[in-house]
Order: sequence, then C-alpha cells, then structure tokens
Amino acid sequence: MQRFAKTCEAVAATTKKLEKVSIVGDYFKSCVIDEAAISAVFLSGRPFPAWEETTLQVGGRSLWQIVSELSQKSEGEISTAYRRRGDLGAVAGDVLPQRTDQNLTVLEIERAFRQIAAARGTGSKDVLVRELLTHATPLEAKYIVKIITGDLRIGLKESLVEEAIAKTYAHPLPEVQRANMLLGDIGETTRLAAENKLSEARMRLFHPLGFMLASPIESPEEGLSYFTDAAIEDKYDGIRAQAHVSSGEVKLFSRTRDEITESFPELPGALAGLPHDAILDGEIVAWEYPAKPGDTRQIVDQVSPHADKTESGEQHVTNLGRARPFTILQQRLGRKRVSDKMLRESPVAYLVFDVLYLNGELVLDRSLLERARILDELLSAERVRHEDTRTQRTLKQGTLAFDSDAPTTPASIIRAPVFRAAFPEQLEELFVSAQSRGNEGLMIKDLNSAYTPGKRGKSWLKMKRELATLDVVVTAVEYGHGKRIGVLSDYTYAVWDTNKDRLVNIGKAYSGLTDAEIAEMTKWFLDHTVDDQGFRLVVEPKIVLEVAFNNMMKSDRHDSGYALRFPRIVRLRSDKSPEDADTIERVREIWTNQGKRAGL
Ligand code: AMP
Repeated sequence: MQRFAKTCEAVAATTKKLEKVSIVGDYFKSCVIDEAAISAVFLSGRPFPAWEETTLQVGGRSLWQIVSELSQKSEGEISTAYRRRGDLGAVAGDVLPQRTDQNLTVLEIERAFRQIAAARGTGSKDVLVRELLTHATPLEAKYIVKIITGDLRIGLKESLVEEAIAKTYAHPLPEVQRANMLLGDIGETTRLAAENKLSEARMRLFHPLGFMLASPIESPEEGLSYFTDAAIEDKYDGIRAQAHVSSGEVKLFSRTRDEITESFPELPGALAGLPHDAILDGEIVAWEYPAKPGDTRQIVDQVSPHADKTESGEQHVTNLGRARPFTILQQRLGRKRVSDKMLRESPVAYLVFDVLYLNGELVLDRSLLERARILDELLSAERVRHEDTRTQRTLKQGTLAFDSDAPTTPASIIRAPVFRAAFPEQLEELFVSAQSRGNEGLMIKDLNSAYTPGKRGKSWLKMKRELATLDVVVTAVEYGHGKRIGVLSDYTYAVWDTNKDRLVNIGKAYSGLTDAEIAEMTKWFLDHTVDDQGFRLVVEPKIVLEVAFNNMMKSDRHDSGYALRFPRIVRLRSDKSPEDADTIERVREIWTNQGKRAGL
C-alpha cells in the first residue's frame, strides 16, 4: 500500500493528465495482477467495484473520533488540522503516529474493507477500522481514509485509470472503456487487460451500466445548433432508473447504481411482462392517472421519432395522464417498504425513453433512431403478457397495468412520447407545453447518436426552467433564525474546482426545503459534522442540492470567485452523489453566457 500511496501523492502533485496516466501506468507495471486489479478500484476512489451493492457504512463522525484517538490529539487540534487541509484523509496522514510494525498490502486492505462492510453495527465496524489504521503507515492511512470517505481528491478520474490500463497492457483505449462499461468493474477490466482477454468482457444482466448524461443549454437556438436530426422529449421531474428484465425477474437501479426496486413494488410486475430480456432507461415519476383504475384502459398510438408533427404527440400525452410534482415522488424514495396507502395515494409511472439491451444483444452502439424503433416495438407492437398467473391479463403499452400484489395500484410503463422540432420557435412551443404538463422542460437528443454510458456530451441536451441551476454540495451548515431557531437551515455549498480534487464554495442559501426535510437534514448534519465551530458546523461533503438563481456575480466572498444572486434551493438531489455536482467550468460557462445575453 505504501507504493500505492506514493503513486497517489505523485498523481496529486501534477495537473498534467498525461503525466498522471503515466505515473499510474508505471505503478500497474510494478504490480502483480491481483494487486493491480484491486488498486484500479481504489484509484477510482471506491473500496469496491462500481457494480457491487456492498458499502462500508463507516460514518465521518466515527472516522473523526478514531483518528483523534489514535493520534492522541484533541478533537480541537483535529479541527484545526481539518480547517487547514479540508480533507480527513490528509489530516490522518499528518497526525497519525509512525511505528515500525506498520505496513499493509493492497490485498490486506481490500480484505479488511470486506470485513468492515460485513460487520453489523457502528461499534464492530469501528473496531475493525481502528485495527486497520493502527497497522497502516501514516501515508497509507491517508489513502485508506480517503477511500473510506469515497474520494481520493488527487484529480484522477476513472477515465484516466482506463487510459493507464490501456497504456500499461497495450490495448486500444476504446476496448478498455467498453469492457469497463460492460462490467462496471475497473478491477476486473484490469485483470482482463493484463490477461489479454478484454474481448471476453460481457454485459451482465442485473449489473447496472452507466447512464448517458445531458449537457445544459441556455436557449432554444443553442438547442438546435449541435445536430440537425433532433428528437424532443419532455424532461420529467422524477428519478432516473435503469430497468433490467430477464425471464420475469426485474431490478431497478438508480443513477448512483443503487438498487431501488423495493421503493417501487408496483413496477416489477408490470415490467416482468415484457416479451424479451431487456435493459431500459427511463424516469420514474409520480403520476396522475387519467381516470379511476380499471375504468379506462387506454391503448395509445406510438409517437414515432419519424413523425414530423407534434399534434399527435400532444394528444398522446394527454391520454396517458400527467406527472405530479417531484415532492410527491420524494415520499416514495429510500423506502424499504411502501405502504398500501402510499401506493394508492402516490402512484408512479415509469416513462421509458431508451433501450440498451434486447434479447441477448447490446444495442448501445445503434443510433437513437434505431433504438427508438426497437423500444417502440418492444413496448407496443408486441403484446405484453403480464406475469400474473392468477389473472393472466394481456396488456399493451400505455395501458394501465395492475400489480398482482396491490390490485388497486396502477403501474404503468409508458413509452415517453417523442416530438420533432426543426426551428427554435417549435422548440419554444414544446417547452411551454411541457411545462404546462407539469414537466421540467425538454430533452433534445441527437437521433444519430449512440448511447454513451457515463458520458456528458452534446448528443443529449437539457433545457430547464430557471435562468440556470447548479448541482452543489453542502459543505457547512448554520442554525436558522425565528421559527428555524433549533434547526440547521442555512447551507453553504460548493462546486468542484477544475481538477475535481477540491470543493470551492459558491454560495449560501436559506433552505427552501420543507420543515420535514429540514428536520431530517438537521439530524443527518449533526451525525456527519466534521468540525463543530459552535454557530457553524463543517459537514461531510455528501449532500447534493439543486440551486436555482437569477444572476451570477464575480465576488471574492466565496473561494470560487463567484456568487449567486437570489439563490433558491430547488430540492435535495439524493439521487446524485457528490461527484455528480457541477464544476467551476459550468459556473464560468453560465457567467459567459449571461454576459453574452446582456450584450457584454
Ligand atoms: P439533470 O438531473 O438536471 O442533470 O438532468 C438530467 C436528468 O433528467 C436525467 O438524468 C434524467 O433523470 C432526467 N430526465 C427526465 N426526462 C428525461 C428524458 N426524457 N430523457 C433523459 N433524461 C430525462
């Protein structure tokens, strides 16, 4: 682990990507295969491969106390060090004592991580973490703590680890990227690359793939400036979900690749009836069904991406029902058990907009136009057999399916309608009608583009309501005033700097969250405080918020060099992890566009 840690130090010391890649490459060359495979996972900032559900569940507070105890420093001293370094891993490296019997291998650390993950209860986890850190040199401990907290902060993205693997084992980069995308396991990818077996990497059903991401646009003109053949869909305000369906078995995965099937017990039944094995991409949305369940069984026409009129799409949309606000869906999130009452009162729909795999074949590389055709066929042309042996109902896409366990709950799998627009005015019109349907805005997609997991490019664009919104990470919180006196309701938040190795504060907002959310967040923040400064608590940078604002200013009030005017917290983004938050580049882009609009 000492070599691993030294490699990380060297990677952090340079801003040049090529140098970072070559340092990691040299390290891989010095490793045996097992060691390289585990190191690749650690280098991507994770204790376990991305596809695995396993988590360590070690809180920042526990780590904080263990570091303080082992270093025999007071919590005040640790606080001072933390304020200087801004990272508990770095603090551990500074304060933990050096002894002669320390030194661990990467393999030993992985084994310890697995034991920690398997241990139940904070107490037993803490014992194992203490044991691990005692046997690590201070430099090793620095990186162990960083991996436990889920972020190395050395400016090394997984894509650079892929480059290093390609270079070390002499394979074309796209082959490495493809294997990693299919396996969701950079360690296994390393192993296959080292053994010249990359072509053996196969997609595994029920191991989530990365999600294709969208870039924001500022105007309808920009929305049609990158490609000519655009498919337009409503941007639904729900949560992204990838559905894996095989022989009646169904699992749903969130954007963070966590399994969320249990929160939506009405969907598996409806999806299990698909005629083929498939992986679908879509948005789960709180849904208002058009009439009493059972009364209206709508068979709807597909809106083909080839259609050049928008009217049929509009009609289609009204027939299906409409989205309800995100706050309603929020009640359903993160639940292991959903009550019948909740199923009845807050039903959801799965708005499917893409297909990644069908019947033994990955279709990612096909154009969106082709994928849309496959999806249309899958969801509507074929008759969908509902796997309910008691009733054997036969369903069609767009009909209301009824989950067998909760007969009064409608659960619809809806093909997200697709519109066309060739002129900015049409886009504007669609934008207004999407909003009137309660949706957030539009998604504009290049019909000739492939599905690129985990990538944010210009093939998918998003057009949203506000001047702009940013996804930010909460770094510190304060107690409120007036009726918010006992709760932590003022949040300081940050975006990533250029190398994504540091968070830079950009603003502070009074919470726009509900009282219940604030109460819940207060509890979370108290449990995850890393530096209690009395009136202000520095917290673990884990909570992502979406903030909207009317204007942006240059300002030296925050370390990002910018400040937001009239910031409002739109909502908690529990579906996003801190790494998904925006960067300073995005801030600069908004700043530049704002200047352009103002004619500056
Ligand atoms: P944002 O979360 O603001 O970065 O916007 C991207 C998100 O919009 C995606 O991750 C999806 O969760 C969501 N979304 C809603 N409707 C669509 C759609 N029709 N196509 C793709 N993504 C959508």
